[in-house]
Amino acid sequence: MKSLKRQEHKFSDSFIQLEVLQAARPGGGKFERFEDKLDTIGLFPLRPTQLEIFQVNVGKMCNQTCKHCHVDAGPDRKEIMTRETMQQCLEALDKADVAGFPVKTIDLTGGAPEMNPHFRWFVQELHKRGKHVIVRCNLTIILANPKYHDLPQFFKAHGVEVVSSLPHFSARRTDAQRGDGVFEKSIKALQMLNAAGYGQEGSGLQLHLVYNPAGAFLPGAQVSLEKEFKQQLKRQFNIDFNSLFVITNLPISRFLDYLVQSGNYEGYMEKLVNSFNPAAAANVMCRNTISVGWDGQLYDCDFNQMLDLTVVGAPRHIKDFDVAQLNQRDIVLNQHCYGCTAGAGSSCGGQTA
Ligand code: SF4
Ligand code: SF4
Repeated sequence: MKSLKRQEHKFSDSFIQLEVLQAARPGGGKFERFEDKLDTIGLFPLRPTQLEIFQVNVGKMCNQTCKHCHVDAGPDRKEIMTRETMQQCLEALDKADVAGFPVKTIDLTGGAPEMNPHFRWFVQELHKRGKHVIVRCNLTIILANPKYHDLPQFFKAHGVEVVSSLPHFSARRTDAQRGDGVFEKSIKALQMLNAAGYGQEGSGLQLHLVYNPAGAFLPGAQVSLEKEFKQQLKRQFNIDFNSLFVITNLPISRFLDYLVQSGNYEGYMEKLVNSFNPAAAANVMCRNTISVGWDGQLYDCDFNQMLDLTVVGAPRHIKDFDVAQLNQRDIVLNQHCYGCTAGAGSSCGGQTA
């Protein structure tokens, strides 16, 4: 499967995605503006609490082309963060330390972040600075090439927390979303991570899985899904992990395309809007996170990054990083934000309310 960009699909243009999100409904009228909804609960303009996490997208290249990928990642994407931009990220972190606003956690994402040729160097530099590093590892990358086979040991040596998508504990449902053969490779990779100590009690090596729904519906409760995943993966494959992060699919990129193509867009948006939860709104991840794009541009979150909505009220590039101004900014919002506030909420760390 090709990325939307390679297909020259209309949704590879973020402007067109935003037009769909803001368009009038077929029956007339529009969905209430997310900003107005926040205003009704006293949260608009939405401000950061305090910057605690850098989520760095080190490139859009990936060995997979999952159906619902909000990054539109794949083997045909060539955008990759340079070492110079990584160096600017390190300088920004040093600046934040000096300013008395240390950013403790660095969350590395992609694409498959491990495919960036400077990935290991970057992790080593972050580790030297005492930062807590999270890697969003798609699992299959560990088996994709012999040069990646030692990733579990590399992660372990640098105290990396591993967060990995596994949409289901059945091969059929995982492969339907992520591609043929992905489930089998993911299981092997999880077993390799377990053998390195990941997910094992007392090891301190954290391994979390991510679940997202296969279609146009909200996910179930995190607690019960985690219990089911733990039981099934243990029984069928002797796999252990720490937590299951349950996330909602946001209506952007390939998932937006799916919603429109399948005639589910209106109904899905209605579900998100009607399930607005003020408690989830108070805990959206953009309040303590900054997202850094592969080219060093700054965004409020990874979703805004994919919609080309850069931060406002603070410098927009990591080389001009200013933590004090970022902590004072108004977060850029749009209709896709309803995905973070529906039901039990959604963030890169799972449900929020
Ligand atoms: S593994 Fe992740 S980044 Fe790669 S295509 Fe799938 S969802 Fe996108
Ligand atoms: S989509 Fe991004 S900006 Fe909008 S609420 Fe979610 S995390 Fe915040």
